[in-house]
Amino acid sequence: MNMNLYGHDDQWLMVDCGVTFKAPLTPESTVEHDVVSADPAFITKQKENLVGLVVTHAHEDHVGAVADLWPRLQCPVYTTAFTAEFLRRKLAEKGLVGSVPIIVVDSGDCIDIGSFNVEWLPLTHSLPEPHALVIRTKAGNVFHTGDWKIDPKPVMGEPFDPAPFEALANASIDAMVCDSTNANRPGRSLSEGDCYAGLKHHVEQAEGRVVVACFGSNIARLVTLSKIAAETGRYVGLMGRSLLNMVGTAQATGVWPSQYSFAETNHLPYLPKHEVLCIATGSQGEPRTALTRLATDSHYDMELDPGDTVIFSAIKIPGNEVAVDRLIANLKRKKINVITVADSEWPIHASGHPCADEVADLYRWVQPRIAVPVHGEAEHMQANAAIAKHQGVHQQLTGSNGDLFVLNGRGKVRKQAVQTGRIVLRE
Ligand SMILES: [Zn+2]
Ligand SMILES: [Zn+2]
Repeated sequence: MNMNLYGHDDQWLMVDCGVTFKAPLTPESTVEHDVVSADPAFITKQKENLVGLVVTHAHEDHVGAVADLWPRLQCPVYTTAFTAEFLRRKLAEKGLVGSVPIIVVDSGDCIDIGSFNVEWLPLTHSLPEPHALVIRTKAGNVFHTGDWKIDPKPVMGEPFDPAPFEALANASIDAMVCDSTNANRPGRSLSEGDCYAGLKHHVEQAEGRVVVACFGSNIARLVTLSKIAAETGRYVGLMGRSLLNMVGTAQATGVWPSQYSFAETNHLPYLPKHEVLCIATGSQGEPRTALTRLATDSHYDMELDPGDTVIFSAIKIPGNEVAVDRLIANLKRKKINVITVADSEWPIHASGHPCADEVADLYRWVQPRIAVPVHGEAEHMQANAAIAKHQGVHQQLTGSNGDLFVLNGRGKVRKQAVQTGRIVLRE
């Protein structure tokens, strides 16, 4: 549930405003709430000093709280077209669509927001239009990576281009605020393009219906699956609200390749089994999602039969192991073939985050004075800091929620300078 604030000249710029799901409000609590965000009290008490909110990309942990919290923030929102469309759909649900000023920016744009000058640099991740930011002020410059990986074959959008990041070596970057998610994994992440062969292999082997569970926001994976369906004579059905919302966003913004269309899911039961490829939400075993309903014969549109195949084109997010294992057991009890990342000899999932060698590359290109690892547990941020040190970054500053990082001159962390916490957006 990312929420970053950059301060300069008595003004604040917010970068990202996300949520987390099924989480307690404190580490000690055992009570989980459906949707939780960071408590924005620090900034809402002085919202006249908040000059804008920049959203780096359309993942829920970066954009999910905007519609709920905007009435308390009341600032202009800056983002690119895909994320803007995704956000508009969320604002529409709250009746806020005309009230929120959304400024749509393009890759490469450089915009003054109060005392901050913000430049949008395109990179690769696991959904359309991810961006890093260069935030320039009179006091110093920050490179904020957002979520990223180095993907030479992203399927969607342009391959990763190192040129704008190499150019930052001469741009006096004081601090690089960097995604740490997979920094403790050696080597490099798999490319999104590497999932095609494995997924196609499994779909070709399947005799009955195929259901593929994946993250709804991974539009590139959906394009790969649509291509495989076309090549193997199957119709694609989409099951799950978040999936439909993301595809709708991709279609509305022209990101979705128009040659790939979808079958109505209530028509799927009338098709021969070998002509069905269904993409479903619920890879984490969440209750009330499409795959859980299919596993328990409670889906409104379709039932699975023995001999059908379910492919998990997603990892088990830590914490969800029990729910996913229960889901798999339910499917196997129905004699459905289950293929997970662990069972597959071929890659069928690629993470959207950088492994150690990619993190090293970016530090080497950008050459910041200070590294600020973010986005991960303490062990991931420590691993990121160690990579930065190895690449000759002068200072590595790690901290926790509520710490204030002083980034001009010699960097320092003022521990717990700001009171933070969590709030419930939906019970
Ligand atoms: Zn993220
Ligand atoms: Zn992301």
